[in-house]
Amino acid sequence: MSKKKYVYFFGVGKTEGDGTMKDLLGGKGAGLAEMTKLGIPVPPGFTITTETCNDYFNNNSQYPEGMWDEVLTNMKMVEDLMGLKFGDAEKPLLVSVRSGAKFSMPGMMDTVLNLGLTDSTIEGVIKRSNNEKFAYDAYRRFITMFASIVMGVDRMEFEHVLDKKKEKTKVKYDSELSADALKELVKEFKALYKKKVNQDFPQDPMEQLKLAINAVFGSWFGERAKTYRKLNGIADDLGTAVNVCTMVFGNMGDTSGTGVAFTRDPSTGEHKFYGECLINAQGEDVVAGIRTPMKVEELEKPMPDAYKHLMEIYQSLEKHYKDMLDLEFTIEDGKLYMLQVRVGKRTAAAALKIAMDMVDEGMIDKKTAILRVEPQQLDQFLHPMIDPKAKLKKLAKGLPASPGAAVGKAVFTAKEAEEWAEKGEKVLLIRLETSPEDIGGMHAAKGILTARGGMTSHAAVVARGMGKPCVAGCGDLVIDAKKKTCTVKEDVIKEGDWVTINGSTGEIILGETKLIEPSITGDFAKFMDWVDEFKDMGVRANADTPHDAEVALKFGAEGIGLCRTEHMFFEEDRIKAVREMILADDEAGRRKALAKILPMQKKDFKGIFKVMKGKPVTIRLLDPPLHEFLPHADKELNALAKEMGVAASKLKERNELLHEFNPMLGHRGCRLGVTYPEIYEIQVQAIMEAACELQKEGVSVIPEIMIPLVALTAEFTKMKDMTVKICNDVMEKAKVKVEYMVGTMIELPRAAIVADKIVEAGAEFFSFGTNDLTQTTFGLSRDDAGRFLPFYVDHKILPEDPFVSIDIDGVGELIKMGISKGRSAKDKLKVGICGEHGGEAKSVEFCYNAGMNYVSCSPYRVPLARLAAAHSMLKKKGSAASTTK
Ligand code: PEP
Ligand code: MG
Repeated sequence: MSKKKYVYFFGVGKTEGDGTMKDLLGGKGAGLAEMTKLGIPVPPGFTITTETCNDYFNNNSQYPEGMWDEVLTNMKMVEDLMGLKFGDAEKPLLVSVRSGAKFSMPGMMDTVLNLGLTDSTIEGVIKRSNNEKFAYDAYRRFITMFASIVMGVDRMEFEHVLDKKKEKTKVKYDSELSADALKELVKEFKALYKKKVNQDFPQDPMEQLKLAINAVFGSWFGERAKTYRKLNGIADDLGTAVNVCTMVFGNMGDTSGTGVAFTRDPSTGEHKFYGECLINAQGEDVVAGIRTPMKVEELEKPMPDAYKHLMEIYQSLEKHYKDMLDLEFTIEDGKLYMLQVRVGKRTAAAALKIAMDMVDEGMIDKKTAILRVEPQQLDQFLHPMIDPKAKLKKLAKGLPASPGAAVGKAVFTAKEAEEWAEKGEKVLLIRLETSPEDIGGMHAAKGILTARGGMTSHAAVVARGMGKPCVAGCGDLVIDAKKKTCTVKEDVIKEGDWVTINGSTGEIILGETKLIEPSITGDFAKFMDWVDEFKDMGVRANADTPHDAEVALKFGAEGIGLCRTEHMFFEEDRIKAVREMILADDEAGRRKALAKILPMQKKDFKGIFKVMKGKPVTIRLLDPPLHEFLPHADKELNALAKEMGVAASKLKERNELLHEFNPMLGHRGCRLGVTYPEIYEIQVQAIMEAACELQKEGVSVIPEIMIPLVALTAEFTKMKDMTVKICNDVMEKAKVKVEYMVGTMIELPRAAIVADKIVEAGAEFFSFGTNDLTQTTFGLSRDDAGRFLPFYVDHKILPEDPFVSIDIDGVGELIKMGISKGRSAKDKLKVGICGEHGGEAKSVEFCYNAGMNYVSCSPYRVPLARLAAAHSMLKKKGSAASTTK
């Protein structure tokens, strides 16, 4: 076996990794290696692999054998290349230490800069830079970063001392502190370090390096990183790489600077170099939002050569990677260095525009463009917008950091956001600026508003990634965290006050503003047309009313995969008749009540058929247990008895009679139709009469009548015979012939096991009801699972909530068995899914690979499902698809 390699070098003349090695080198390491290979100026350094991180954890937090030697060898190579020496008092090498997982993770450890500075090496730095102020500034920053990031001391402790120093020396900005003040500060910081850590600040650079490497490894299992991974579905066993890189300084004076930039606008996708930078600053200053950064194009005047070089580099990198990139750079005394390249995070709008523009520019093909937009991202297009007719009390404007409008009650800490949201409140998180600790609260909030920070601040980047509306850097906000209030010019927002933000414009509005539903237009519509070109599985919607059906059509549904008829029963004008039916003592009484329901149901079905204009509509016969239609509390029961003119005791008695210990496993679904056939008969009659009448009017209709909760072949046979008989009667009477189908839901394991027999009994289609199928396969009540499922997921007993994403190993096997058995009896059996999973990207891919004809989901998820279906096809068929289009 060849010896494991732990460390990869990058530097002029020798680069061991490249851009394809993200798994091993992490995103940052792979990017640095690739840029070095391309001849782009990158300060030399090395990457300790992600595998090393895993080995370290598997080995009781000990380095694997040989790793440290490799670090020393690589350090020596860097020293030779730079003509410097780590720890040397004359010509000291300083390095940065940064984490870098395969996927960029804002929850991970930040960067430690200026590592290698000690009381002795600082002398060399002063001598070489001829700038005492710069050297002490670097040292005080290093102590702060090392203490907070590596040793876990609260950064604010250092900030307080710094603030005091500024006050005492009467300056406003850190950069105005004199060399002497900074020198004093270093002394004070070291004393503070000793007080907090109980040890002297380490004066051995190798010890500093070791501790920093350990901290990077340790941060992989830090709370923030774990939360981020959980929210983003990133596996825990990927590990992080550690990048050790020669320091270059953006804070060496006015010919130095540092910045972050995107090759296109990450918010809108506009084809324009987009970035922020600061002159005479280190990288942390830009991201932290302490000083308000300037636009990257403003660099042209003070540093024309470096700016020109940056333009050339960004263009060539974008051409090379064929994607929008996120770059970090530093200019040291007029010379440009690139510190990071990675594919840039972007909003859905930007993802779409960039993908489509790149097709126009001939950079990528349509297939790649489609794969560049994640199905979940489409959610952002489907974000509500502020009703243009709403009267708004606009308070101020910040940066439009992440699009969409959000309305919520103001809270001022992430913890409160989580607590309030748990209680069912809609909250808007207002912070001075956010940090990785706030991730949970940001997730719980409807939107995020910050007083500080630019478009690349933590809040902006994370909110965009989450698809949450965010307004950042609103300087008019004055937050008083203690009082839990925030002043915006003359107005005061208190905790619990309704606030609206518009993340697309940056506006902050007082009050609970009305939001309106989105629609598919412009670029989005064109993109969705492309998606349909690469999609060979149907997407339908679950819709119970003509209005839902209209929304579904607007979003591109090709039919209705589930119309739950019980929702029609709850409408105010008919619940009374439904209750009369339940209270009837015999069949005749039930039929009398049902006769009142018939015309109303017929009207509903006509409405839906009309909207769907010849597209298939799957209507499910009544599913829930009857007691769901009766009130249970005494007060409501008494009122109902009065309203219906029956004795309250009778209602109570009927309620007791209908009571079930496990209603979801009880008298519901086709079991109702089997025992009270008149209920299903009336429903079938209503469906068929509606279809016949419309067909006569020239409207084509495709009804698909669906029997729920079938477990036994005999249940299906009985229900199908009844349905066919009623349909024939209605058609004969109406003298028209309507093409219709009768099928079943597969939502019980037994149905999947005997699927072939159900088809032999005449089922013409299957629709997998994966909500119930998950519940019954797991023996896990879907209504109660919320009490402990999160624990299961947190403790990795389950990889994720099986009610959200199909449990492929269990429920998935039953689905595959059901399809294969069903099709063994009827080759071309039409199969779909109508459980919630039909609108979840991973489940859609599973359904595609299992050979389903369509997925059906809520109307608002139809675009997502369309894109997920196209992705599934493109992934499965690979490049074959692109050659045919
Ligand atoms: C299902 O069980 O997946 C289904 C679609 O039916 P319901 O959610 O109405 O039980
Ligand atoms: Mg069901």
